[in-house]
Amino acid sequence: MLDDQRTPNPTDGDEMENCMPVLNEVLEVNAQYAAEFGDKRDLALPPARGFAILTCMDARLDPAKYAGLSEGDAHVIRNAGGRASDDAIRSLVISYKLLGTKEWFVIHHSNCGMEFFTDEVMRGLLESSLDTADLTENGFVDVGTSEGSTEGHYIDWLTIKDQAQSVAADVARIRNHPLVPGGIPIHGFIYDVATGRLVAVPEAKAAGRAR
Ligand SMILES: [Zn+2]
Repeated sequence: MLDDQRTPNPTDGDEMENCMPVLNEVLEVNAQYAAEFGDKRDLALPPARGFAILTCMDARLDPAKYAGLSEGDAHVIRNAGGRASDDAIRSLVISYKLLGTKEWFVIHHSNCGMEFFTDEVMRGLLESSLDTADLTENGFVDVGTSEGSTEGHYIDWLTIKDQAQSVAADVARIRNHPLVPGGIPIHGFIYDVATGRLVAVPEAKAAGRAR
């Protein structure tokens, strides 16, 4: 028998929830959403409007709003920067091969956090600590006290120097991927966080054209 067995403390759960203030908010809203779910239960698995969007996880971007999506309409694949990473391409291949999408968008955006650091900076920050860094006029600065890790050296963080260039490069990478058929048009855009407008990237136009 273990010496340090202890009776459960009834306040443990409460303390835990105090550290996670968002949890209850989300569950409350979800209960309401589910109560009004209605005929969305009948939605088909393949996206009804047959397209996919690859975009950044930035909290200011809401693809459902900026592109007019309802549940069931389209695939939205999000990551830091909206980059055409191997995993984003994995999702896009599933999107067309199994679920029939026929048109894709790559949408990066102005004022993206991915412009404010480089691989070397990120690796240094993570090596310094695992706490959240401060964003200062001189970029991200580590202020943490926890132990860091060198694991960040093994990750390509896919940072962005120039938005138009990154959109064009990602459209070209997807276009030229051996698992992507030439018939799917790939549109490259930059979402302007100051206006909500999608601005076409001319450099991506030729690269994304269906063959
Ligand atoms: Zn971003």
